[in-house]
Order: sequence, then C-alpha cells, then structure tokens
Amino acid sequence: MTGLEWTTQEDRLLKVAEWMGVPTQRIAIETIVSTGCFVEKSQPSKCCLAISADSLRRLYQSTQPALLKIFIEEQCEELLVFGCTDHLRHSTVLSWLTAGAISGITAPKAIEVFQLPYTGQAFSRQLASLTFSTAHTVSTPTFELDSSTSEVLPIISGDGRPMFVATKQNSCQMFLLSGAEIVDIHEPVNGDRAVEDRYDQIIPILIVLHHCFGSFCWHSPHRTARFIIDDPLLTRKYGFLTYKELLSSMRSADYGTSIAFIPWNYRRTTRRAAADLFEGRPNLSICIHGCDHTNKEFATSEKGVLDWKGNLGLQRMKTHETRTDVPFEPVMVFPQGQFSSSALLALRTNNYLAAVNTTCFPTDEQNVLTIADFLRPAITRFHGFPLFQRRYPKRLVDCAFDIFLGKPTLLVEHHQYFQHGYEVLERFVRELRNLEPALSWPTLSSQLMKSCVTRQVSGNSAEVQFFTSQFQFQNGIEGCDHLLLTKYEPDSSVVRTVLLDGISVPFYVEKDYLHLEVNTTAGQSIRIEIVDNPEAPRPTNSYCSLQYNARVRLRRELSEFRDNRLVRYPRLLKAAKRLLKRLKLTGE
Ligand SMILES: [Zn+2]
Repeated sequence: MTGLEWTTQEDRLLKVAEWMGVPTQRIAIETIVSTGCFVEKSQPSKCCLAISADSLRRLYQSTQPALLKIFIEEQCEELLVFGCTDHLRHSTVLSWLTAGAISGITAPKAIEVFQLPYTGQAFSRQLASLTFSTAHTVSTPTFELDSSTSEVLPIISGDGRPMFVATKQNSCQMFLLSGAEIVDIHEPVNGDRAVEDRYDQIIPILIVLHHCFGSFCWHSPHRTARFIIDDPLLTRKYGFLTYKELLSSMRSADYGTSIAFIPWNYRRTTRRAAADLFEGRPNLSICIHGCDHTNKEFATSEKGVLDWKGNLGLQRMKTHETRTDVPFEPVMVFPQGQFSSSALLALRTNNYLAAVNTTCFPTDEQNVLTIADFLRPAITRFHGFPLFQRRYPKRLVDCAFDIFLGKPTLLVEHHQYFQHGYEVLERFVRELRNLEPALSWPTLSSQLMKSCVTRQVSGNSAEVQFFTSQFQFQNGIEGCDHLLLTKYEPDSSVVRTVLLDGISVPFYVEKDYLHLEVNTTAGQSIRIEIVDNPEAPRPTNSYCSLQYNARVRLRRELSEFRDNRLVRYPRLLKAAKRLLKRLKLTGE
C-alpha cells in the first residue's frame, strides 16, 4: 500500500519481492481514505500487505480505526510494517496495531552487533542464534516492548534491542521493521563484503518473503556444501596437509572435499598415490585450479591466451585422468581468485561446467554486479556462464545466509589451515550441520549441475531457474506436472540446441532468458543440456616459449619449497615471500 507519493523505500521493497518471484500489486491508500472502502474488486481475497509506518498512520487517522482493524485482521494473512522510525509519529499507531505490545520506538543508536535470537527460528530458520556486524556501525531505532506481555517475538535485534519483530493479532501474522532504509537490490556493488554489509537491510525482507510466500517465492530444494583445498599435489603429504588424516577427518565428521588441482602437475601423481587416495572414496574429488598457476593467468582479457589456457588445462586433466584413473570435475577455481569476464567466456567455449571463486568481481568489470545477483545460487551475468561463490570457513552467518537462499555452501582453505590439525574444520562442519541438519556434501559437479531455484506458479505448474549448461532436476514438487525451465542467456546466438534427456527439444529466448517447457510426472528426473555452436578452429599458437616454461617451473618449485619447507620457519617464509613478489611469482 502506498501513499500519494510513490516513495523510494516502497519502490525498493517491490523490487525485492519481484526479484524473489512474488507477484505484487500497488494499492493507493488515498482510494481507501476517500471511499472508506478497504477492499477493491481486483484485490485477491487474502494477501500479504506491506505498508510503511507513515502510510499506516495516515490510514489510522483518516479512516475508522475499527474498520481498518477488521481489514487487517481478516483480509491480510500477513502484514509488514516498515519504516518504523519515529516515536512521536509512529508509536500510537503501532501500539494500537499490536494491542499495546509495542509501546514505543527508541531514538536511533549506533549498532555494533546484530543478533538473530533462537526464539525467532520459525522465521529466520538457519540464521537463528547467529550474529553479524557490518563494516560501518549502523544507526537504527529499535522497538520498545511492553514488558508485561510476551506477544512480540524479536527476529533481529541490534545490540540486544529488537529492530525486526513478529507478532500475531487474530489470524494476521504481523512483521514490524524499524529503520528508514530498504535495500536497493539493483544498486551496483563492488568489494567482497558488499552484500554482507547490508545484511541488516536484506535479511528482514527475505525472511518476510520466504515466510509469507513459501514455495511461491524463489527457493531451492537443495542443501549442499563442499570443502575445497587449493593447490596441493596428490602425494602423501603437502605442507601441513596429510591426506591420511584428512580422509580420516572426513569420515569421522562426515564432509566432502574437492582438491583444486593445478593442471601443470598432471604428470606428478603416481598411480599408487592415486589409488591410495581415491579408491572407494567418492567424497574426495579433484577440480581444476588454473592451468600453469602463473600470476593472474586468467585475469588477462586476451581471448586467444584465455582460450589456450582453458583448453590446455582441460587436456592436462584428461591426460591425468587417463594415467591415474582419477576422474576430475570440470569446475575451475581461478588462481589468486583473479579472472576477467572474458575468462568466463573461454571456460564456456571449452565446455567447463562452472567456476567457483572467492571473489565474484572480474578484474575488467568492477561495477556490473548488483546485490540481486548474489541472491541467486550462481552469478550468470557474464556470458551466461555460472560462477559460484565460495568462502573461507570463518563467519558461520555467511554460510547460513547461503543455505537460507539455497546457494551451495562452498568453503575454501589452503594447507596452512591444518597447521594445528583438523579439529577446527570439524567444529565448523558440526556447526553447519547444527544450522541445517539436512546438509549433504556431494561432489562439486554433482551439486552444481543440480543447483537451481524453483517457484510454484499454480497448483500443477512450477518455474525452475537453472545455471549450468548441463542441468539435472528431479521433480519433487507435489502435484506439479508442468515445468517452465529458464536460464539466463545474454547472447542466445551461441546456443545451437537444447537437449532433454538427450533429445533435441524446442526452446525460445525472451528478455535474455532461455525458456523450455517440460511435462513431467512427480518424482521424475530430467537432464537438460544446452549445446553451443561449435567455435571456429582455434589457432595453433601455444603462447608459451622456453622462457615462459622455465618461469612456470621456477614458480612451482619455489611455491612448493615455500609450502613444504619454509612454512615451518616464519622468518624465512617472510623473506621468501618478498623475493617471490619481486620476481612477480606470488599468489596462492
Ligand atoms: Zn592456488
């Protein structure tokens, strides 16, 4: 519901709802004020109503409060009142709305830590009992509650004072949100904490939408995680990583690991070591970490170099697989986390499944992504190729945010993480499982090619948005026999055909999304493959010279010397890092 002026905050709220797949309708309160009639003919019989505290106050003052109350409690299944900021303006109407349970609003105070108390778990789900801080302290007003009643449930508090609460009046589930700002999800963001630093604005709206619309709002049926270790050779031991201990830890704490393997090392795994590590252990796998692992090797924008590197990395992994019988996952982890947008195109051209990276910002396109991009399991903005975000296992709340949104929880570390054993990781895994007991740890390729969001459109129809060119889906939506599958494809001219279970099927592209309709039965599994047009034959340039090869070898030898020897002598390690930097050989 909006006032005479369509405010920025109302506009932003509707944009979040639309991005999350929720149908919206704007109702002007002035119509109600002038006619005194609360229900329009076009209005659904029941709805989730969002209204600012200012508009609610105007309705309260301009209409008969008794009629307003009947409308809210009988027509609105859920109500969100946002923009509760001012004690003088809003406390009377909020107290009336909540039958006195909210007695006032405090003046804005700088908040250091936000809490999601366990008592709000029915709403905040995996985020319950966690805390977060933003990079800059946020000044926010909070609610004053009537201490004689427990009718109001805090979902988010700021320094212990409730700022986002739930309460029920008759059959209406109410949410009240303090603070003036609603997040602008289409605002370009940059920097790796751009989304995390807006949790105080993003999380309340997502909680309301998920609670009110459930399966009718974009959500994911999957809860998956994977631990990724960058760089190690497949030998008995690499730096502080001892595979025997890792495997034992994986067994006892029940998690799965992918080794981000450097293709340059493809001749260095013995058949014996491969058998020792991988035979009968589906929970350990390898993916691709660069090609030569040189400095910023995928950060260039030179298409020829990127295509050559992408292809060479893949060929080396295939040779490694033939030699050792260790299959690999066609998933790229970029060395030093650096990549250009053209690198993602090179991966697409070479039939990689996906990229997994700590940063999602390409070196050449810094202001393109928006918060909205991070509310989907993968970012496909660049050439339609999926980029999945991974994180260091530090802040549990970030993983909970990913699980809440249905993103795969992808964790990354290096061998140094195991300097004091495996207990730290095991504890983190246990904490993740406490947040989401259904969390599973399939291989990267398995979980990424099933990654999707779905939303029910009607009783028997659902929409499925997927991200990888090879996609597997099991129809677990009750009563649903018709699926509309969509994937972001900004340049549809590259798509040659779409296969459903191996057979070419019709598709169409509308507003940069590829669409495909499928009739299924409950429980049925389908496989979709988007096949691109073949590329022109690639030039035979190898882009390497004797000098280049010598530098690659030197770099690997120095890196391994650092990881296996120097790492145990901190002062020597510092000096070595300085030397590597001078030789431009640094990086993880
Ligand atoms: Zn690395």
